[in-house]
Amino acid sequence: MALKAVGFDIDGTLYPDFRVRWRSLPFLLTHFRTILAFSRTRHLMRENHSDMAFDGDIGDLEVKYLAGERGCSLEEARDLRDRILYKGWEVYFRGMKIYPDVRESLEKLKDAGLKLAVLSDFPVGRKLEYFGLDGIFDVILGFPDSGRLKPRPEPFVAMAKGLETDPKEILYIGNRLDYDVRGAENIGMRGALIGPPGRKAPSDVTKFSDYRHMAGSILSEVVK
Ligand SMILES: [Mg+2]
Repeated sequence: MALKAVGFDIDGTLYPDFRVRWRSLPFLLTHFRTILAFSRTRHLMRENHSDMAFDGDIGDLEVKYLAGERGCSLEEARDLRDRILYKGWEVYFRGMKIYPDVRESLEKLKDAGLKLAVLSDFPVGRKLEYFGLDGIFDVILGFPDSGRLKPRPEPFVAMAKGLETDPKEILYIGNRLDYDVRGAENIGMRGALIGPPGRKAPSDVTKFSDYRHMAGSILSEVVK
């Protein structure tokens, strides 16, 4: 089937992970216990499929798990999540260098008539603005609006719906095989990895070494 749209993960995909960890080191140290509890929260949410299949507000479930892991009330957990984990982290993305050639490559895809999306397991907030990527994407979807965490089908289904495109005509690109590539493939999308050449990919998975490579490869397929 012809390719009509391309979706991207944000963290570790538009920029190298280590860069934000390095920049936010003082923040990570100050909020160490909360960040650790949040990391366990996310792990539990992914592990506990029956909870992930529940039909309440997924953001509330995140708060519930975080309260349990952090040993605090639901109100405190919600405040920690919103103020520190969601909002507090965001400032460290301001002025951060993303991977080379991202904007130019995305513009080339757009010029070729492809729709573009971002889909993230975190709120998108002002990240795209800080990355100089505002105005590029047709669909911007982050947690909790995405409904569930990747690799569950709901976020990918929601992205396809926003793009008004059949999942089979969408390629989703990320930095994680398990969440991004396999998640996309599970609903019939194509998935691909992007990242430094040293990072290996299984033989059945497309891997782009950088954004120029990605755009060139996609354009050779869609521009005939
Ligand atoms: Mg990622």
